[in-house]
Amino acid sequence: MSPTIGFIGLGIMGQPMALNLVKAGHRVTVFNRTRSRSEPLERAGARVAASPGEAARDADFTMIIVSDTAAVEEVVLGSDGILEALKPGAVVIDSSTISPAASRKFACHAAGKGARWLDAPVTGSKHGAEKGELTFMIGGDREALERAMPILKILGKKHIYCGTHGLGLAAKLAQNAIQATMVEVFCEGFVMAAKSGVPPQTMMEIIQSSLARASLTDFKAPFIFKGDFTPYFPLKLMHKDLELAMENAYAQGVPMPTAAVVKEVYGAAKAQGKGDLDYAAVITFLEELAGVQVRATAAGTG
Ligand code: NAP
Repeated sequence: MSPTIGFIGLGIMGQPMALNLVKAGHRVTVFNRTRSRSEPLERAGARVAASPGEAARDADFTMIIVSDTAAVEEVVLGSDGILEALKPGAVVIDSSTISPAASRKFACHAAGKGARWLDAPVTGSKHGAEKGELTFMIGGDREALERAMPILKILGKKHIYCGTHGLGLAAKLAQNAIQATMVEVFCEGFVMAAKSGVPPQTMMEIIQSSLARASLTDFKAPFIFKGDFTPYFPLKLMHKDLELAMENAYAQGVPMPTAAVVKEVYGAAKAQGKGDLDYAAVITFLEELAGVQVRATAAGTG
């Protein structure tokens, strides 16, 4: 018989991930704080729970993918949270990007119930979640990971074991610090070029003919040039990840001077009310400082 799965958090990422588990024939019980987001899953055949605890009760595996550390804390330790419901031998797979230190604490709580905890943050964004092509970075017990692999294989194409508890998250925070910086500096360059009079299409041709070319900016550029900031990864969550990267860097005694400044740029954009847009909307903050709009200079050219 296929394992029973509790699934908590049906946002941009969780919604398609949970759907893929249901489509694969698993018995899935979902919980989302805002109930209306559970409806597509209910129509697809999932059971809907009234609390995180109800979703985790009797489940062999409980997946979590919610916004941040405070949200995971509420789901795990809050009223009718999963901790009281976990059965011995259950495996919790937390794909939220949160603090590695907090994640280790949750792993200890789970161990106290005879359950296992994997930190299993992802990359691949909404498209990767929809196609079941996410990349997982995993920390925790290898044996628990082996048990979870049949589920993780439905959701992702690559599963990279990073080591003990919290190391999947440490890797994820390093990746997002790199990614946030790449997009921010790409935007800085394009704003400077546009202000000087170089059209973005010309600039893009140059970047794509140079070693500065990257699949990330190839993917983001058309959205930036159209001014389409529909959130694939909300800017407020990228800012949260930069904050977490700074916390982890401090704990490790590692200076990250460039990422620290980039964090402030995303923070300023968030303070302007851009937090719910895609993180590529950081360009609009830079454009406002420079008094130029890259997409306006793109209009009507090549
Ligand atoms: P999202 O669309 O904003 O969804 C956030 C989810 O968290 C929603 O289900 C929300 O419930 C839930 N939530 C927030 N606070 C809660 C609380 N206190 N208690 C219970 N549930 C709570 O975010 P997302 O893009 O799916 O991202 C989820 C996680 O994946 C984040 O940690 C993010 O950093 C990470 N991630 C995202 C991407 C991406 O491209 N989007 C890629 C990799 C990793 P409501 O519906 O009630 O608000």
